[in-house]
Amino acid sequence: MSFLSHLECSRCRKTHDADRVQNLCDCGGPLLVRYDLKAAARSLRPADLCGRVASLWRYRELLPVRDPKNIITLGEGMTPLFPLPRLGAELGLRDLWLKDEGLNPTASFKARGAATGVSRAKELGITALAMPTNGNAGGAWASYGARAGMSVTLVMPTDAPAMSVLEATAVGANAYMVKGQITDAGAIVGRSAKAHGWFEAATLKEPYRIEGKKTMGYEIAEQLAWSLPDVILYPTGGGVGIIGIYKALLEMREMGWLPEDVRFPRLVAVQAEGCQPIVKAFREGKDVSEKWENASTVAQGIRVPKALGDFLVLQAVRETSGTCVAVTDADTMWGLERISRLEGSFICPEGAALVGAARMLLRDGWLDPGQRVLLLNTGAGIKYPDVMSPKLPVLELDATL
Ligand SMILES: *Cc1c(COP(=O)(O)O)cnc(C)c1O
Ligand SMILES: [Zn+2]
Repeated sequence: MSFLSHLECSRCRKTHDADRVQNLCDCGGPLLVRYDLKAAARSLRPADLCGRVASLWRYRELLPVRDPKNIITLGEGMTPLFPLPRLGAELGLRDLWLKDEGLNPTASFKARGAATGVSRAKELGITALAMPTNGNAGGAWASYGARAGMSVTLVMPTDAPAMSVLEATAVGANAYMVKGQITDAGAIVGRSAKAHGWFEAATLKEPYRIEGKKTMGYEIAEQLAWSLPDVILYPTGGGVGIIGIYKALLEMREMGWLPEDVRFPRLVAVQAEGCQPIVKAFREGKDVSEKWENASTVAQGIRVPKALGDFLVLQAVRETSGTCVAVTDADTMWGLERISRLEGSFICPEGAALVGAARMLLRDGWLDPGQRVLLLNTGAGIKYPDVMSPKLPVLELDATL
């Protein structure tokens, strides 16, 4: 049973009815899902999680679906969390860890947001939804939408990764491309959703995607036996993951799952040098970002020129004494090579940017060699065949090596 209580505007704090279809607040602010955490804390303790389903639905009391029969799941969540001793030794970090979201259904952490978003949409009677995407969100929402029997319309940039296009069309999405950025795709979706009565499920324009992504925070705590890392590095595009992890930390503390005086991990928003609006705003001491012009990076999932939730990312970073850093594509590709070769973990470019960021933060003295540092890898390397193009020697049939 869910302890869902209401929706609250992240900007003006106005309360909204959770059992009606909602997008943004009248003030334009994204809506956050609130629960009766006192009642939840009375009915659920961390020890009760033992033996529950190994997916994010193990936290169902703190998720927004009221009737379990509306849950649309492909087994998302409860992804592996493991140490990176060889990469750590090379970087000079003694306690380096990876949470590998590439093992989710649809091979990225977008499955989490799609699972809760589509399930709640089904519960509220929505039958058609539309969204802009750089690739992975489209693949995930199209897949969960297919399972829910919903119509899903996607608009993505023409250079969206081929695997995500394949995935989305394979599961039956109505997919379109536009010569532009995800923000341009978003404008088309906004107009079309209004014209056709589709539900607009763009990042943070609907309240429930963040609930799926917040479960990464619950899992990190549970998998580390209710201790927390000192630092979490996160590849930030729209920022839903980092906002969600911070939300989970606050909820767990309020429920007494973490001590009142717990030290939260310092949250680090990592962006690409070619698209770093949030890093720039952080450096300039601003509360919101400005749109980044001519955004370009090999890490397409974090190519978001202007995020609706930028102020929430900046809050999460500042309130945890974290920081924001930008990584060059060269450092991202270096990180991808090092983590692949040293750990056998072929992650996505977005996740690989974190390796470059960790090296930079250690050199700057922002990280201490002994701190527990967690890299949150958001997707699988095999979803990006376009990023590397190895050429193998072709052997004659009678060859011996
Ligand atoms: C979407 C995406 C991101 C960025 O996620 P946000 O929560 O929007 O910041 C990072 N990595 C990958 C692989 C993605 O698909
Ligand atoms: Zn508001």
